[in-house]
Amino acid sequence: MVDSQYIVSVDANCQYCYKCLRNCFVKSIKFENEKSKVLAEDCILCGDCIEICPQKAKTYRKDIEKLTSILNRPFMVSIAPSFYAHFDQPFKVISFLKSLGATYVGETAVGAEIVSMKYGEIFEKSSGPTISTACPVVVYYVERYQPEIIPYLANVVSPAAAHLEFMKSYFGKFPSVFIGPCIAKKKELEGVYDVVLTFEELDEYIKISKVNLSSFKDVLPDPPYAEKAAFYPITDGINFSTNRKFEDSISISGVRNVAEFLKNLDISTKIFVELSACDNSCINGPAIRKDLSVVQKKSRILKIRNELKSTRKRIIQIDSNLKLSREFKDRSKKTTYSEEAIKEVLISMGKTDPSKELNCSACGYNTCREKAVAVLEGKAEKEMCLPYLVEKVSSASNKLVEESPNIIFIHKDGKILYKNKMARKYFLNFSENQIMEFISEIERKRLDKINLELFGKHFTFYCKTFELPEESGNVIVLVDVTRENKQKEEISRIKNESIKRIEEVLEKQMLLAQEIASLLGESIAEAKSRFEQFKKIMEESDDNL
Ligand code: SF4
Ligand code: SF4
Ligand code: SF4
Repeated sequence: MVDSQYIVSVDANCQYCYKCLRNCFVKSIKFENEKSKVLAEDCILCGDCIEICPQKAKTYRKDIEKLTSILNRPFMVSIAPSFYAHFDQPFKVISFLKSLGATYVGETAVGAEIVSMKYGEIFEKSSGPTISTACPVVVYYVERYQPEIIPYLANVVSPAAAHLEFMKSYFGKFPSVFIGPCIAKKKELEGVYDVVLTFEELDEYIKISKVNLSSFKDVLPDPPYAEKAAFYPITDGINFSTNRKFEDSISISGVRNVAEFLKNLDISTKIFVELSACDNSCINGPAIRKDLSVVQKKSRILKIRNELKSTRKRIIQIDSNLKLSREFKDRSKKTTYSEEAIKEVLISMGKTDPSKELNCSACGYNTCREKAVAVLEGKAEKEMCLPYLVEKVSSASNKLVEESPNIIFIHKDGKILYKNKMARKYFLNFSENQIMEFISEIERKRLDKINLELFGKHFTFYCKTFELPEESGNVIVLVDVTRENKQKEEISRIKNESIKRIEEVLEKQMLLAQEIASLLGESIAEAKSRFEQFKKIMEESDDNL
């Protein structure tokens, strides 16, 4: 499985929340060793994961460096029709591009105009649906996930590719740059254009160039100009440009809507179908500004169209040598997994029967079964299942409590809810009422230590009580400190005995001192003082025990 070179994962930012996977319509994100990767073959480049990731852990390949590498030569630029919706000063941006060395800055809509003519021809000849292929995400989706639709795709290159053919036929072979709102175009136009940038990237380049855009004069795009195809990026714009009527066309946008529509495609009806993967089409593409509504963006495009109407120079005819046709490939996966293999994975995730298949989507997959298939495909790890993990963690913590060397009771409303192994051992001969009385005494008197006769022996317990969250019960922990207490008593006994002996020695010394007082006077007084000090230290250390 190859990682996508277009959708880039920033591992350091990823928090493994699976939000991207939950929102990825085709589930083309793989999680392994706490890293997420976008799978090149499965990804349709819709860009949803980039928009949805709260940690900015998904982005797309940026190609500004490629742009800088062609700046020392004359180059041609194709600007997508939503250019006017994105930039506040579009004619100054064109001027900026010219200042970089662009000898020609034309509208991709010219290519769209050519494509629309081709769509019209295909539609006329067709007896069933004719599906627009301007949106690369739609094409990738069909090729990978619904290849049975391929015969209905209009086999025409995209507007951007048609525009390049057109530019080359006029100006020859110069380095070329496409600028648009779409991430998927980077793949579609790889090896076609020399550089494919998004509007966001051009914004970034203008910023790092530190130019004052307002100081540039307004420069119009280079002719020829498109007419109706200028509305390609707006819902129904392709139908409008293809001269379709309400009765013989339909427009669907949004990748989920597109997929649903294609699943139920009526192949016996002659209809022109405009499909766009982005909700509300390209003016809402993944790399176009989001601070304007689609209505505002549409108004901007309309306004500029009206302003430029008088200067429009329409394309009269298409050079018949332009390469405008293309083929589509069935790129679907053929692997299927046996019921046994899927079941085995489900069981390993703790789904031992259907009632345990919660289908909660916490892992990012729509169903536990879908997730099990992803595990078999090597795209997911079974540990990604949240209920499975919770069960694992809680059974581990349950084991810790059960096997604790201390006595643990949980009680609520006068009833014992739980006794661990040690509690069952020590309180073997106690009834539930007796245990509750014992616990009540500790809690009522707030005891931190309690003595108890068990099996004819004396025990001392250190007591700790606390409440469980959400009033689910009270816990009492008893730590058996009987042995430690005994040791302490023994040490105390030994010390007392030592002190007693010292006193006896001192007494004898005093008697002896009286007899030989004249000979040893001061030395005896000093020895007495030393013995007194030693005795005091012993007594103090005994108190501190
Ligand atoms: S949305 Fe995806 S990429 Fe972003 S933090 Fe969550 S798991 Fe990681
Ligand atoms: S770009 Fe779209 S298809 Fe690709 S991983 Fe992201 S959400 Fe999925
Ligand atoms: S609708 Fe437009 S911007 Fe969105 S994916 Fe398709 S071509 Fe790209």
